[in-house]
Amino acid sequence: MKSAAVVNYAPEKYSVEIREVSSPDIGEEDVLIEVANVGVCGSDLHQWTADHSWAVNYPVILGHEFGGHVVRIGSRVKGWKEGDRVVSETAAVIDSDSPMSRRGLYNLDPSRKGFGYGVDGAMTRYVRAPARCLHRVPDRLGFEKACLTEPCCVAYSAVVANTRLQPGDRVVVLGPGTIGILSAAVAALCGAEVAIVGLEKDRHRLEIAREYGCEVIVGDAEPWARKRDGLGADCVLDAAGVSATLRIALQLVRPAGQITKVGWGPQPLNFSLDPLVQKNVRLQGSFSHNWPIWERVIALLASGRLDVTPIIGGVWPVTEWKEAFEKMHSGEVVKSVLKPV
Ligand SMILES: [Zn+2]
Repeated sequence: MKSAAVVNYAPEKYSVEIREVSSPDIGEEDVLIEVANVGVCGSDLHQWTADHSWAVNYPVILGHEFGGHVVRIGSRVKGWKEGDRVVSETAAVIDSDSPMSRRGLYNLDPSRKGFGYGVDGAMTRYVRAPARCLHRVPDRLGFEKACLTEPCCVAYSAVVANTRLQPGDRVVVLGPGTIGILSAAVAALCGAEVAIVGLEKDRHRLEIAREYGCEVIVGDAEPWARKRDGLGADCVLDAAGVSATLRIALQLVRPAGQITKVGWGPQPLNFSLDPLVQKNVRLQGSFSHNWPIWERVIALLASGRLDVTPIIGGVWPVTEWKEAFEKMHSGEVVKSVLKPV
């Protein structure tokens, strides 16, 4: 059985096309998932425009934000059955004996390979996933929302697991992409006062961020950051896709504050990190997520306390991936969602 798939076939810019692919074989510990919906991630766009900084196993089917129904089960899989509604974590290949995996941080295992770059992803009808990656999706949570569990987990990991927020903290989020907006939403759930910062061209996406109860700032965030006592924000969450925003984060953060960097940008930097030392700031990177984060985020999505509806800009068939990618790339929509054909 052949299905249309969005394939990234070479390292050159724009090397993405639709190909007809066979349904994958599964191993003893895998399940086969019939994809219901798959989100387009900034990282899919980075691979499309070839400005990514990770190794890609070409050719590869894109897509790591997905949910669907289990349709086949490996011989050694326990606890799952055909028809189960699931979402899958992204660490498709890990070394379960590595020291990071042993402590539950398999997302940081150096041998980790994720869907959509290391192994075939979900922008097609069928995807193979190890059973250990699965989480159950309650019936009341539709797949158009559930497929966005993954970016919500990226935000939760950055804001909750990797940052120590207290209710009442003033938090500045840099970058109104999916991760920026969701990080702002999670920070607001934690009781923080949140402002999200973007450029003039980000106006539309910033308006969407406003629906999550944040202050919206175009340009200079310093007056907002210093408003309470003149010293700066308790925390800056850097979710912009360039490295240079670290300089802004260092300006906005208060002494003994925190900066958590979750946005990627391969460009080198050329400025002094002395403010980091002088202000005694804690600079923290944040990468992906693990099991307990997924369980909590699914609960938040199912209860409606975290609602991804405002960021979903549309649902396209995978064969119309290009329009979905372009609308997201231009900032016309925050998040594009695909469905298999
Ligand atoms: Zn993603």
